[in-house]
Amino acid sequence: MSTLVFLEHHDGELQKDSLGVLGKAVQLGGDVAVLVAGSGVEGLAAQAANFGAKKVYVADDPALEQPLSQPRVDVLAELISGQAIDTVLFAATVLTADVAAGLAARLDAGLNWDLVDLAEQAGKLVGKRPALDDTVYVDVGWTSEPRLALFRTGTFEPVESPAEPEVEKVGVKLEDFSTLAKMIEQAHEESEGPSIEDADVIVAGGRGLGAPENFALVEDLATALGGAVAATRAVVDAGWYPYSTQVGQTGKTVAPRLYIAVGISGAIQHKVGMQGSNVIVAINKDPNAPIFEYADLGVVGDLNEIVPKLTELVRQRRAA
Ligand SMILES: Cc1cc2nc3c(=O)[nH]c(=O)nc-3n(C[C@H](O)[C@H](O)[C@H](O)COP(=O)(O)OP(=O)(O)OC[C@H]3O[C@@H](n4cnc5c(N)ncnc54)[C@H](O)[C@@H]3O)c2cc1C
Repeated sequence: MSTLVFLEHHDGELQKDSLGVLGKAVQLGGDVAVLVAGSGVEGLAAQAANFGAKKVYVADDPALEQPLSQPRVDVLAELISGQAIDTVLFAATVLTADVAAGLAARLDAGLNWDLVDLAEQAGKLVGKRPALDDTVYVDVGWTSEPRLALFRTGTFEPVESPAEPEVEKVGVKLEDFSTLAKMIEQAHEESEGPSIEDADVIVAGGRGLGAPENFALVEDLATALGGAVAATRAVVDAGWYPYSTQVGQTGKTVAPRLYIAVGISGAIQHKVGMQGSNVIVAINKDPNAPIFEYADLGVVGDLNEIVPKLTELVRQRRAA
């Protein structure tokens, strides 16, 4: 097996998730190379050496300064056509999702996305992908090479494994159509109130809210308590609330004094991000919801009735 791992980087550091994917590739064995693409990125080759790659390809060119996908697809396509690379792995980000999809289209290759594991079974590579709202895992494979795979955020932790890789510079030849998109601006999201990592009180909303506009219920309660708003993966994936507020295995880990879970079932992947909270209060209409197994205080009922009353009570107490 000859694997290439695409390493994404930010502010002079290789991204943790892509180093995690590199660790997985090293564990699977075979020839493992990485590609670092960008402008002024030669120094990153040394960082990659700490994580077990046998070869580091560096595509360093001002044309790769902006985080745009098509120039990276050009570099990857050229590299793959010149080398016997049969597997290309990416840790999923906004950029790599685009790069992997573009590469699949360019090479007419199969792309499996949202994987949470990869293993060799009877000589074949088999990926694991959650399905049906993450309630089951399905095995997925490829019928042709190169095999492309995108891994879900937070799937693998980086594993240090110092190596002395060969570093090779790769030429950057871009297709005309790849230079047409320009990045006009990049901005950081501004948020008000305490961040969920710092907040003493967190009110978290889940799919039980039913619609994005119902997050107002959670926001009102958080404001009354002087706390921050968090969310489950189900709602951030649905676009109801920003990713920066996601708590859990693939989100943030929080430990406030009080965590109020509103319309959240309490899946294990959510629990691992908030179980360190001092007091957990759950509001859920299903008495059998898993969250009641570890909540300190459980309220069984309709959040649409309970939350506004609770907010009102908090306001009255605070005003008194
Ligand atoms: C590899 C992996 C990583 C993951 N990482 C994360 C992660 O980081 N964070 C995370 O949160 N999840 C994560 N998940 C997803 C997780 O498994 C669950 O799917 C998710 O947490 C469910 O979100 P939820 O509780 O909002 O939705 P649901 O499970 O759909 O629960 C909604 C709850 O609302 C209740 N409800 C509905 N209507 C009302 C009402 N009117 N009043 C009161 N209650 C109501 C229901 O009874 C139900 O219990 C991950 C999954 C995988 C496989």
